[in-house]
Amino acid sequence: MKKKYLFTPGPTPIPSEALLAMAQPIDYHRSEDAVALIKDVLEKLKHVFQTENDVLFLTSSGTGAMDGAVSNLLSQGDTVLVIRSGKFGERWSEICTAYGVNIIPIDVEWGNSVDPEKVDHQLKSNPSIKAVYSTLCETSTGALHDIQSLAHITQSTSTLLVVDAVSALGADDLQMDKWGVDVVVSCSQKGLMTPPGLAFVGLNSRAWDAVEQSNLPKYYFDFRKAHKSGLEGSVPYTPAITLLNALQCALNRIYEEGIQNNIARHQQMALATRSAIKAIGLPLFASSPANTLTSIRLPKEIDGKAFVKMMREEYGITYAGGQGELSGKIVRIAHLGWMDENDVIVAISSFERGMAEIGYDIAYGAGVAAAQQVFTTQDSQ
Ligand code: PMP
Repeated sequence: MKKKYLFTPGPTPIPSEALLAMAQPIDYHRSEDAVALIKDVLEKLKHVFQTENDVLFLTSSGTGAMDGAVSNLLSQGDTVLVIRSGKFGERWSEICTAYGVNIIPIDVEWGNSVDPEKVDHQLKSNPSIKAVYSTLCETSTGALHDIQSLAHITQSTSTLLVVDAVSALGADDLQMDKWGVDVVVSCSQKGLMTPPGLAFVGLNSRAWDAVEQSNLPKYYFDFRKAHKSGLEGSVPYTPAITLLNALQCALNRIYEEGIQNNIARHQQMALATRSAIKAIGLPLFASSPANTLTSIRLPKEIDGKAFVKMMREEYGITYAGGQGELSGKIVRIAHLGWMDENDVIVAISSFERGMAEIGYDIAYGAGVAAAQQVFTTQDSQ
């Protein structure tokens, strides 16, 4: 018998009550129960987004919300600033290009985070820039961008700040209202502990003004339709109602724990993982690592692809490998969603075992001890 463990930055493990909720007979999405369900979910999402603004949902993966955050906010001829520090920053520029929007890229070396001064400089030289598109955690590298500083810059301009918090929502702090972030997009299968298939968008009043002016083509991902329906507990099209049932259970967990406690738990798991990796003697890949996941740079002689494959096939442990130019060079361990200290210990002890098996000279237990140290210090505080 082999038990499976999922340590990928999405999908993430799902709490048992959410799994059970999905086993209930399917309901009609225009029933009174569905109206109550949708209203409850949208209200609780505000807590997770740390906003008083309405949050809307779409039936799609996270990329659908990103697509909508371009087609609903922009108009033909607009120019935007795109922070590209990995695969998902690149996705923003691909979407903008697909819609014919002009982009000014800020290219950041993979593993690093954007220098807010560079954004400030660009906005001062090009005040007509309509929006800045960034990620919170660039999942392909594990780096965290300083969204609070970016929001501080954009708030005093007419430029919108649009943040892809697809992987990091609930794990890394993002205080939408307090910091002044105009648009936040996310999805179900990461920090929100629900299967893939739902995407979420929070917009403030500045963003809604842009939506009203936008003339790019859109249909399925029309935010105005989703917003109007959502307020009534309704939907423009048939939603993934089964997933909404699961999401409600998952959101109840976050709501009961409180978003800031939820983030603090992720921070401890990230600190413990980073401490463990350092004790094992390997470098972290990101210069400013996120709470969402830890990226580890592998020694040159180790084939990262073979390592990830072996871990999955022989031990039932799924880590994520590197994407794009990082393929085979890094391993990504997520500590995201329905996870706690014990999951981190399993992730680290399995990592030690696998690294030893693949030929890395390792002292068993060094990483585990370092992680335990972080957790016990925290517990005694
Ligand atoms: N942005 C980020 C930061 C992500 O981590 C991901 C998924 N890994 C996406 C966008 C794309 O989301 P999806 O695969 O749900 O479309």
